[in-house]
Amino acid sequence: MHDETATATDPDEQVLAVVGALNGVYADSLLLVGRILGDRRDATSATVVGADLAGIDVRLTDPDGDHDVRIDFPEPATAESQVVDAAMALVVTARERSGEPGTTSAERVIAEMGGIRTMLTRVVRVVDEHPHLRRITFRGGDLDTFAPLGPDTFLYVLLPPPGRTELTIDQGFSWESVGDMPQDERPVGAYYSMREWRPDTKELDVLFVLHGDEGPASAWAQRAAPGDPVALWGPRTAYAPPPTTTEYLLVADETGLPATAAIIESLPLGTPVRVFAEVASMDQRQALPERDGVEVTWLDRAGAEPGTTSLLDDAVRAAAPPAPTAYVWGGAESRCITAVRRYVRREVGLPREQVSLTGYWRHRDHEDDAYFDEDA
Ligand SMILES: Cc1cc2nc3c(=O)[nH]c(=O)nc-3n(C[C@H](O)[C@H](O)[C@H](O)COP(=O)(O)OP(=O)(O)OC[C@H]3O[C@@H](n4cnc5c(N)ncnc54)[C@H](O)[C@@H]3O)c2cc1C
Repeated sequence: MHDETATATDPDEQVLAVVGALNGVYADSLLLVGRILGDRRDATSATVVGADLAGIDVRLTDPDGDHDVRIDFPEPATAESQVVDAAMALVVTARERSGEPGTTSAERVIAEMGGIRTMLTRVVRVVDEHPHLRRITFRGGDLDTFAPLGPDTFLYVLLPPPGRTELTIDQGFSWESVGDMPQDERPVGAYYSMREWRPDTKELDVLFVLHGDEGPASAWAQRAAPGDPVALWGPRTAYAPPPTTTEYLLVADETGLPATAAIIESLPLGTPVRVFAEVASMDQRQALPERDGVEVTWLDRAGAEPGTTSLLDDAVRAAAPPAPTAYVWGGAESRCITAVRRYVRREVGLPREQVSLTGYWRHRDHEDDAYFDEDA
């Protein structure tokens, strides 16, 4: 989520790789920008076909055919890393000029990001659910004023640099400033989901998959003890079922199961929910609420390496397809969840707003995969 993939070497191609990726993710926002700032109010689709630090080239399609227009950023970006922000500024300008009500996907993200902050807090409890899953509870400090966004609320857990015990950042942390920090001062960390927030005691539980020492977050969780300081950057959410949803399909490996459990708890009793849950072995299942309407299929990797099987995709395909009014949510290894997303979007044909399937981590053999997926 901070690792947009751009492998091209030409600067303009790099910019296009970053901005062009928004074609899939924020298609509705690009259409707003194209219609209003490209002066083609009847356009029905907009695609970024070129980009540089000063603006984007957009192909607009309206009843008269295709039209290529140039749309300059309000302020030119000074580096490739700022181009997405500059493109986001176009969305804000387009909305202001349009005089139209509504909220596109990029506008929802902008609103959410506005509420993001860095909360300093500490570990108060560490409980092993099983040898590869640890429940770590945070309490105190800025967490006293925390408010979750939704059942899949996730935060970036910022940790002391390897070999250090104290944080090197404070509430003023920003992703831009990390690049200016000396390497050995930079925080490490990863995104984690809220498993449970108890407003009465202001305690936040997170379930950490322990996958060894190779990852700094897993290594930290393996050694975590009460009193350890952490910073939590967030909150964020990707769960937004349309109000017309009649049934839910939830797809997860170990990393997506904490949010899966929280989503089930958030739904009215009796709601039809099908869960496909991949785990290392049957004794590493995570507790999911047992309720009328909730049907869980456990998928046992049986010794296979995490992130290397097609268990989730195979199981989802073998089952009855989701209804046209279903909402499909999931979190698992990037390539595994991409396979499910392609099936649900391209073959079942569910529209984008009914599907939120996110790569929660990448197997080391998949690190060159593009972060953005055209079906996202
Ligand atoms: C929105 C969101 C919510 C998430 N919620 C949770 C959560 O609640 N609980 C949770 O445990 N994880 C969760 N994750 C996944 C977690 O962020 C990743 O597993 C992350 O890579 C862990 O960071 P790390 O520093 O341990 O390893 P990294 O430094 O990222 O990776 C080091 C190596 O470990 C491998 N690796 C990473 N994760 C795993 C894994 N789970 N199993 C096996 N190998 C792995 C990588 O392929 C790499 O080779 C979530 C991710 C996202 C995006």
